[in-house]
Amino acid sequence: MRAQPKASHFIDGAHVEDENGTPFESIHPATGEVIARLHAATPAIIDRALAAATAAQADWAARAPVERGRILHRAATLMRARNRDLSVLETLDTGKPLQETLVADAASGADALEYFAGFAPTVTGQTIALGGDMAYTLREALGVCAGIGAWNYPMQIACWKAAPALAFGNAVVFKPSELTPLSALALAEILAEAGLPAGLFNVVQGAGAVGSALVGDPRVAKVSLTGSVPTGRKVYAQAAQGIKAATMELGGKSPLIVFDDADPDNAVGAAMLGNFYSSGQICSNGTRVFVQRGLRDAFLDRLAERTATITLGDPLDEATQMGPLVSHAQMERVLGYIAQGRAEGARLVCGGTRVGESGAFVAPTVFADVTDDMVIAREEIFGPVMTVLDFDGEEEVIARANATEFGLSAGVFTRDIARAHRVVARLQVGTCWINAYNLTPVEMPFGGVKASGVGRENGHAALEHYTRIKSVYLGMGDVDAPY
Ligand code: NAD
Repeated sequence: MRAQPKASHFIDGAHVEDENGTPFESIHPATGEVIARLHAATPAIIDRALAAATAAQADWAARAPVERGRILHRAATLMRARNRDLSVLETLDTGKPLQETLVADAASGADALEYFAGFAPTVTGQTIALGGDMAYTLREALGVCAGIGAWNYPMQIACWKAAPALAFGNAVVFKPSELTPLSALALAEILAEAGLPAGLFNVVQGAGAVGSALVGDPRVAKVSLTGSVPTGRKVYAQAAQGIKAATMELGGKSPLIVFDDADPDNAVGAAMLGNFYSSGQICSNGTRVFVQRGLRDAFLDRLAERTATITLGDPLDEATQMGPLVSHAQMERVLGYIAQGRAEGARLVCGGTRVGESGAFVAPTVFADVTDDMVIAREEIFGPVMTVLDFDGEEEVIARANATEFGLSAGVFTRDIARAHRVVARLQVGTCWINAYNLTPVEMPFGGVKASGVGRENGHAALEHYTRIKSVYLGMGDVDAPY
């Protein structure tokens, strides 16, 4: 199994290699096989990427928005046409099952390209009457945007950042996670083929030091990170040093609240999706499942029954429903949390073990009788580990759901629609689902509050984060100077 790209980086419309960079490998986590060998960006590579982006941006911003949109539309069409190849690549790099990558990765990226392609020509400013004089506003591109990605949805993350940035006239230098370097390069090729001028979408590889070099460079106007809270604290602080715009899409420990009048099968299905999809490696997962006491036993029985049917195995087999974790290191972290959950006295309902000996597989795991103070209920595990907590009343569960440093998302399952709205209004999160979970259409803004982040991706909200307003005052009469 090889997925060797033509070169490590993509700069100014071309594949670029610099063998002086630290070598690193991309590993297929289902088998441990090396699928590609790359080099991290050297300072010279980072400089080339930023110089290319800076040189290309002004002309791009000056083009008609409809023209920018046309190119992004073409890219979306190419992505859809190559969905299978892109999905295989993503499956090799991340270990996520093909059954998922075929519908959730390049497809979601193409949605973003299409959405922002259509959005770009609709952007307008304001005119402001001032009683004689007047003012108007212009929406301007920010300049060069640095995108830094996590490893769980590499293609989607690259597109969710590149599509709005490019649509509104910016240039992008994107650094994928060092664990999943490949699909961003495929995106760069597609954008180039669609007609995107050279220099507007560049990919540089490497770990945190490369990301930090981008964030610290004065040529970068905006930073958008998808990653963990500890990384977010560092990147946000560094961006602040340069007074740069910043979007931080960070981690979570989101509550999924199931009232006892909920449809039990839908609630169980949502809890499974919100804990086991992508082997649990989703930022918005509802990993604290609060189940009202009256429904608890039936919920756990049905959950154990359905979890037992999950097909875990070779992610390239389309019948497989669950693949490995992204890496063996991540598997060890997750197994460490499982051991801690047992030691803390949580009741293991199912799973709890590694599966097989070579791949980074962990069985879908459910803990019941979990209390709020347990580490498994407080920290983001980022693996297929669900914690089920009991609750009695609405006030109680709202307070407990909010008692966390995170605030990414939340779900509420109930047939009482007034209660659903009442509860979501009081949850301290960026995204809520009522009788659904983890659906993130590009039309809907997405992002976190509290430690889970600042800024929003997708929807109309993205305009605020990839453009700035210039105000223009227009004097219509004589200048009234008192001297
Ligand atoms: P991570 O924080 O370890 O790394 C994220 C990215 O930041 C990587 O590309 C990494 O190389 C880079 N990085 C690390 N240190 C840096 C530094 N000092 N300066 C600049 N860049 C630096 O996260 P991860 O392990 O790749 O991803 C998992 C995390 O991402 C989880 O916490 C998850 O919740 C979060 N996530 C959030 C969202 C969201 O939209 N809110 C989506 C996906 C994942």
